[in-house]
Amino acid sequence: MKRVSRCGRLRVGVLALAVLVLAASSMVLAGNVENIRLWAAPDHSRLVFDLTSPTSAEVFRLDNPSRMVIDLGNSSMEADPGKLDLSGSAISALRSGVRQGTDLRVVLELSREVRPRHFILPPNEQYGHRLVVDLEYPGESAVTDPIDPIEALVREQEIAAVRAQAEASIEGSSSTPTVQATKAAKPHPRRDIIIAIDAGHGGEDPGAIGPSGTYEKDVVLQMAKHLQRLVDGTQGFKAVMIRDSDYYVGLRQRTHIARDQKADFFISIHADAFDSPRPHGSSVYALSQRGATSETAQWLAASENRSDLIGGVDGNLSLRDKDEVLRGVLLDLTMTATLNDSLTIGGQVLERMGRVNDLHKPRVEQAGFVVLKSPDIPSLLVETGFISNPQEERQLRDGNYQQRMMAAVFDGVRAHFQRNPPPSSLLAWQRDQGRGTGSGEYRIQPGDTLSEIAARHSVSVSQIRQANELNGDVIRVGQVLRIPGS
Ligand SMILES: [Zn+2]
Repeated sequence: MKRVSRCGRLRVGVLALAVLVLAASSMVLAGNVENIRLWAAPDHSRLVFDLTSPTSAEVFRLDNPSRMVIDLGNSSMEADPGKLDLSGSAISALRSGVRQGTDLRVVLELSREVRPRHFILPPNEQYGHRLVVDLEYPGESAVTDPIDPIEALVREQEIAAVRAQAEASIEGSSSTPTVQATKAAKPHPRRDIIIAIDAGHGGEDPGAIGPSGTYEKDVVLQMAKHLQRLVDGTQGFKAVMIRDSDYYVGLRQRTHIARDQKADFFISIHADAFDSPRPHGSSVYALSQRGATSETAQWLAASENRSDLIGGVDGNLSLRDKDEVLRGVLLDLTMTATLNDSLTIGGQVLERMGRVNDLHKPRVEQAGFVVLKSPDIPSLLVETGFISNPQEERQLRDGNYQQRMMAAVFDGVRAHFQRNPPPSSLLAWQRDQGRGTGSGEYRIQPGDTLSEIAARHSVSVSQIRQANELNGDVIRVGQVLRIPGS
């Protein structure tokens, strides 16, 4: 999608530049605008100016009416701003004009309040010098359909309980947890299990490109939407889209959104590529903290992690990553548990994907993918096929194949959560509806406390907690407890 204007004016511009540089070596280089691209995300608009050379820009705001001014010293406009599709962005009109004879002024008329930031990016394999202007929308969510705040709170409590448990076990006090066993049972929430769906790449980052010109970013977005429909159409599940149209999201930002939306599971959808057309098949990847399981896995992780360089992240994003400070033993412990879940789900998913397409690797591979580094969300990356293989490129474009591939993925995920539903989920509640009458089982009644239940069954609180893998001090009405030794 890289449109470069090669008109006569450009050559004149370059010649003029050469003369100017000779005349005054201290003068800032001219950064003629060759092309303008715009990406509209739910929480920001990104305007990218393709420049002939690096140039400094001044970006400031003017009010009444609300507009942004971008001044580029010693530059000219080679692109046609009128061709830019502004729909879905914060920009209602874009004008440009010459200022002080040699400077370029671009004025954006705005339809909403924005917080601007801008940065210059050096050339990469896709683009040359770029000025990136991000117009962020204060208070706006990065996703179009954020989860219910009450459900988020319930999930937050669940995560906190797991953390507290991990902390207690580090301090060696796991046998005498500091929980109150005298709290009365609470109503059983029936929250949805949140599946964060991450379509890889997007915006300036096309991902891999197939032999007949198919962009990875496009087919994976189509597949993500198939998956979204499957998830949202299943009772007890809800999808959260990390991106839902063509814009770039930084790799760290992707895991942030998932955490922000209290995801139970994160799945990143990709299509593989190789130098030769021969390799084919689908594969499933989980994170490795220690090193890649194979050279291919390592190579692939390096290539997927390069996305931020192409997609354009200015490197400051990690500063927002407060949770990243959470390190050491606790992190390791949480990570291990999460990774075990990832591998289990990965196995389920891989098996089902194998019924739709050949498998490139017969087991779940592991490598250091940045996008999979959430300490407490099981995460997988699926390579749905090789876009560099002509036959698989055709398949990846095919709606029917996309649908079947995503059905296989969701089948694997659902199988896992049906077997291991999070305690506060609708699935956990449903599972317990058919239980609780047999021997060795007890269904929690309103007003029950854990210590009372323990006393009534002549077992200790910690025995019950252990037998039911209870985290924290919350018990739920309707929840079924296994009573040990009875
Ligand atoms: Zn990819």
